[in-house]
Amino acid sequence: DFRPAERIESLGVSEILAIGARAAKLRATGRDIVSLGAGEPDFDTPDHIKRAAWEAMQRGETKYTALTGTAALKTAIIGKFERENGLTFEPSQIIASTGAKQVIYNAMMASLNPGDEVIIPTPYWVTYSDVVELCGGVPVLVPCAAEQGFRLGADQLREAITPRTRWLMLNSPSNPSGAAYAAEHLRPLLDVLLEAPHVWLMVDDMYEHIVYDGFRHVTPAALEPALKGRTLTINGVSKAYAMTGWRLGYGGGPEALVKAMSVIQSQSTSAPSSIAQAAAIAALDGPQDFLADRAEAFRLRRDLVVAALDAIPGLACRTPEGAFYAFAECDGVIGRRTPEGRILETDRDFCAWLMETADVAVVPGTAFGLPGHFRVSYATDTETLKTAMARIAAACR
Ligand code: PLP
Repeated sequence: DFRPAERIESLGVSEILAIGARAAKLRATGRDIVSLGAGEPDFDTPDHIKRAAWEAMQRGETKYTALTGTAALKTAIIGKFERENGLTFEPSQIIASTGAKQVIYNAMMASLNPGDEVIIPTPYWVTYSDVVELCGGVPVLVPCAAEQGFRLGADQLREAITPRTRWLMLNSPSNPSGAAYAAEHLRPLLDVLLEAPHVWLMVDDMYEHIVYDGFRHVTPAALEPALKGRTLTINGVSKAYAMTGWRLGYGGGPEALVKAMSVIQSQSTSAPSSIAQAAAIAALDGPQDFLADRAEAFRLRRDLVVAALDAIPGLACRTPEGAFYAFAECDGVIGRRTPEGRILETDRDFCAWLMETADVAVVPGTAFGLPGHFRVSYATDTETLKTAMARIAAACR
C-alpha cells in the first residue's frame, strides 16, 4: 500500500479544486451548474502576448533558460517594478518562477526551519498556510473579521509576533476577501515591523491592477524603504493578463534570499518555461490600457454581485476594494432547515447544499480559514452572475 509522507498528512488537495471537480461531475449528468468557484479571469490572453510566445518559438527559444529567468525577462520585471511600484531592483534580486505560487513555495522552503512561525491574516489564500506547513513552519492565523474590513490591525500584528516569527504574509487586494490595504492601513503595520527586525515581509500584489473606485495600490517596500531589505514583493501575469495557464510569476527581494530561493528552484523546475517567459515580457512591456477596461468590467460585476448578496435575508456582503471575489457572511442561514429537512450546520453544509439543490458552486469560508462565510468569484459574464444570484436568493428564501 502507498504510504504518504508525514509532511503531507495534514494537507489535502485544494478544496476549491474539489468543488470545481464536483461541479464538473454534476454538469456531466446534464445539470446546469453555474460555477463561481474558480479564481481566474474569464477573458482570453491578449493576442500580442500569444504572438510573442509564437515568435519566441520561431526564434528557437525553446531550451532551458537561466535558472532565475532570462536576462530579457528580468529587464522587463525590473522595469515593471520601477514604473508601477516605485521599486528599484538589480537582476540578482529578481527571480521568475512557474507561477507566483512557486515563488512563495521557494521562499518558504528556502527560509523556514521546523517550528518557525509565519503570521497569516485570515481569511487567506489557502496556499499560504499549506505551503508554510509543507515547509515545516507553523502558520499563525490571525482572524480579521468583516467589521475590521478583513484587514489586519497593528495591535493584532504586535501580539502575534514572537521570537520565532520569520514572516508576515500580506496580500492586497486579497483572495478571498477582495479587501485591500491603502497606505493609511499599511503604515501602522509597517511601523510594527520596524520595531521587529527579525520579521520578514512577504507581499503578494497579484491583484494590484484589479482595484475599484479610485483605490490607490501601494506596495509596502515602496511605502517604507527601510523594510525593503527584508521584503519579498511577489507578482505575476496570471490575473492581470489572463495568463493563469502560462505559469509565470516573479519576486523581487534581497539578493541573499533570492539566491537561497534559486537553490530550491534549481532542484524542482530549473526555470519557468522559456515560452512563458517570452510571453511575459510582452505582457509587461506591451500595452497596458486594457487593464483599466478590465477593472471597470469587473467593477460592474462586483456591484451586481455585492448588491444581490447583501439584499438576501440571512446573508451580508462587504464591498471589496479589489480582486474579483466577494466574501459574504452566511451566519444568518446557518442552523436553518432546508426544504428537504436537513439542518445546515456550517458554511460547508450551506455551500454543498447550494450546489446540490440550487446548481451554484461557491467556496465555503472555512477553506480560507474564516468559517461562516462563502466566496463568490465574479470573474464571469453578467448574465451568468444574474442567474447565479437569483438562484442563491431563491434557495435562501
Ligand atoms: N496569489 C494569490 C493571492 C492568488 O489568488 C493566486 C492565484 O489564485 C496566486 C498568488 C497564484 O498565482 P500564479 O498563477 O502566478 O501561481
